[in-house]
Amino acid sequence: MKNNKLYTVIIKPEECKGCERCVNACPKSVLKMGEQLNFMGVPYAYYIGDGCIGCAACFYTCPEPGAITIIEKSEEGS
Ligand code: SF4
Ligand code: SF4
Repeated sequence: MKNNKLYTVIIKPEECKGCERCVNACPKSVLKMGEQLNFMGVPYAYYIGDGCIGCAACFYTCPEPGAITIIEKSEEGS
């Protein structure tokens, strides 16, 4: 039986204020700061698309409650 969990992180560009806390907090270094600017004129963080372990360190360190969403999904059916 497969029991591996996969995670996806969604960061809303319009909610991110570019503080980089999530980037620094991530133990897997899977968050980066982009080069594009959001409507506030700051670069926003993004998930590189692979390697998240779902630890939620990014979520808890982010000062913007709505910016980061972590989605858990089972490997089965993905
Ligand atoms: S949940 Fe953990 S591993 Fe995943 S992006 Fe956030 S800090 Fe990194
Ligand atoms: S911690 Fe939150 S506000 Fe700061 S860069 Fe990451 S997503 Fe943006």
